[in-house]
Amino acid sequence: MRGMSEPAQPSISHEAAFGPATPYRDVTCGDLRAGDEGRDVRIAGWVHRRRDHGRLHFIDLRDRYGLTQLVINEAESPEAAQVASRVRPEFVLQVQGTVARRHAGSENADLETGDIEVKVREITILSEAETPPFYINEPDAPVDESLRLRYRYLDIRRRPMLERLLLRSKLVQAIRECHHRAGFVEVETPILLKSTPEGARDFIVPSRLQPGSVYALPQSPQQLKQLLMVAGMDRYFQIARCFRDEDLRGDRQPEFTQLDLEMSFVDEQRVMDFVEAMIVEVSAAVVPDRPIQQLPFPRIDYHDAIERFGSDKPDLRFGMELVDLAPALAAFGETGFKVFDEALAAGGRVKAIVAPGMGESSRSQIDELVSFVRRFGAKGLAHVSVAADGTAHSPIAKFLGDERIAAIVKTATGQPGDLILIVADADHERVADVLGRLRQDLGLRLGLADENVLAYCWVMHFPMYQWEADLGRWHATHNPFSGVVPEDEKLLVTASGDAYKPSHADPAGRARAMQYDIALNGWELGGGSVRIHKRALLERSFALQGYTLEQMNELFGGILEAFDYGAPPHGGIAMGIDRWAALFSHQTNIREVMAFPKTQSGTDLMLGSPSLPELEQYSDLGLRFVGVEPAVEPGKDKAAQ
Ligand code: ASP
Repeated sequence: MRGMSEPAQPSISHEAAFGPATPYRDVTCGDLRAGDEGRDVRIAGWVHRRRDHGRLHFIDLRDRYGLTQLVINEAESPEAAQVASRVRPEFVLQVQGTVARRHAGSENADLETGDIEVKVREITILSEAETPPFYINEPDAPVDESLRLRYRYLDIRRRPMLERLLLRSKLVQAIRECHHRAGFVEVETPILLKSTPEGARDFIVPSRLQPGSVYALPQSPQQLKQLLMVAGMDRYFQIARCFRDEDLRGDRQPEFTQLDLEMSFVDEQRVMDFVEAMIVEVSAAVVPDRPIQQLPFPRIDYHDAIERFGSDKPDLRFGMELVDLAPALAAFGETGFKVFDEALAAGGRVKAIVAPGMGESSRSQIDELVSFVRRFGAKGLAHVSVAADGTAHSPIAKFLGDERIAAIVKTATGQPGDLILIVADADHERVADVLGRLRQDLGLRLGLADENVLAYCWVMHFPMYQWEADLGRWHATHNPFSGVVPEDEKLLVTASGDAYKPSHADPAGRARAMQYDIALNGWELGGGSVRIHKRALLERSFALQGYTLEQMNELFGGILEAFDYGAPPHGGIAMGIDRWAALFSHQTNIREVMAFPKTQSGTDLMLGSPSLPELEQYSDLGLRFVGVEPAVEPGKDKAAQ
C-alpha cells in the first residue's frame, strides 16, 4: 500500500496523457510540419478528398485539427495502394508512413501542413461510410438547413460549423476564466424546478412520485441565484441552460444558454463595471481582431434610445437617427395632410429617418419599404427624395406645400441623393418601433454598419412597470424581482394591504427600475438589475403585478421567506451566450452556433424529438391524453424563417 506521505502519481506522464497520441495515432491531421521530415508516424481521420494519378493515390485525411496529404505509391506499397483504391469520402482510416517534404512547387500555403505529405506504407479502414447527403469537403456549397439539422453530425464535420463551435467553446472558456479570477463561484442550479417567470410559458415535467404535480424547467435561475446571495455566496456565476416555451425566431430557441451572474453588496454601477470589464476581456480573448467601437461603453437612457434609435437595443455602428418633424411642421400650423394632422392631434408623432443615397429609388423599391413598415403595424410610409441638384420631390408635396417639404428636408438634414422616410401615428411607440426596425434594416443593407466593429452599449433607466389594461395590473417590464431606484421606492407605498387592487393611477407607474440592458450591434445581449432585497418591498411590487398574498406565497414563498433571514443588497445580470457567439461569428441565427438546435417548431430533426411517450409513461404519471390541435401542421415544419 502507498504510504500516506507518497504523493499519488498518474499512471502516465502528463505529456502522454494530455497529448494527441492514442492507440490509433501518434499525431493529429493538423500537427505535422517540415521539421518532422523523416518521422515515422501513425495518423487517423476521415477521407476528405481522394485523387488518383495513375499509380499514385493522394488522400487528404481530415480531423478536427486539420488536413494531411497522404501519398500511396503502388510501386512501393502495393497492398496499401489496393486499399486506397477502395476508399471513398468520409471513410475513417488509420495509416502508417513516413513524413516527407512535398516537391518544390507543390506546397500548399493555405494548409498548416502544406509543406509535407505522408508516404503511406499501411492503411487500415476503421469505418466505411455511405455517400453523405451533402458535400463535407465543399464547406461553402449551400445546403438546405433541414438537411443540415437532420445530419448535424456531418454538418459539424464541415469547417464553418466546426469553427463556430470552437469559437463558442473559447467564449465560454474566457468567461469562466474571467469570473474565477474575479472570485466568482460557479454553482449549478437545478433543471427540475418550480416556475421562474421571465415572461414566457414554462416547459413542465410531470412528477411520477407525486402524480398530478409538475416541475417547471427554469426560464432562468433568477430566484436561485438570489437565494445564493442570501446564502452568503457573494459572487456567483453559471453557464446556465434556460428553457422558455415561446415562438421561435432567429435569436430564440426553446432552450438556450445564459451567462448568469449575481453579486452581493453592489449597486448598478458596480455590477456594470465588472460586466463591462469582463466583456472587454472576453472579446479580446475570443475575437482579438474586432475593435470595440467605444470605451467605456456608451450609457443611454431608455427614453433617449427610443427617441433617437427607435429601439431599446440600438445599433450604434451607424447614425441615421430618428428625427422629430413635429416642430418643423408646427411652424406652419395644420399641414392639410390628414395622416400627419390626425397623428399629431392625438398626441402621436411624425418622425423620419434619412436613407443616404436612396433618393433615386424606384417605385417598386419604395413599395418594398412600405410593405416592410406595414408588416410592423404602420399605416403607411411617406417619403421625400432629395435630387442631385438639391430639389425635393414628394408625392405628399401636393398636400403639404413646398415650404413644409423644404422644412422637412432642412430638419432632417437631407442631402442631395438622400431619401427621407416618414412615419406618422397616434401611437408614438409604434412610430419609434417601425422606424427603429427600418433604420436597422436599411443601415445594414446600405452597408453603414462596419461588420467588424463591436458596438456595445448600456441602456438604462427603464420604467419598472407597464400597465396591462386588459388584465388590470402592472407588468414588470423586465424582471419581477428588479428593484426600483431608491428615490422611487416611495412610489410603491400605495400597493399594500389585503384589499389593494392595482390601478392605472398608482404612482408606481412612474417608478424607474434599477435595470440595465447590454446591447451589441442591434441585438439585446443581456439584461440585469439590482434587486429588491426586502420582503415588504417585494410584496408591494408583486401586489402591483396583480398577485394576491396567497398567490405570492404559493409562487414565491421560498424567496420571500428567505428575505426574513437577512438578505444582502444584491444585483446581477444574464447574457445570452448563443447570441454572443452568433454575433462574434457574424451569424444572424443562433442555430448556427448551437451544436444541436431545434427547428422553428421546436423539433429535433436528428433524433426526432418531441416524440410520443410510451403508454406506460402515461400511466406511471397518471396522465391521459385528451388531444389538442397541433400548433404546427405535421410536415409543414421549416427550419429557417
Ligand atoms: N434572470 C434575468 C433574465 O433571464 C436576468 C437577470 O436579471 O439577471 O433575463
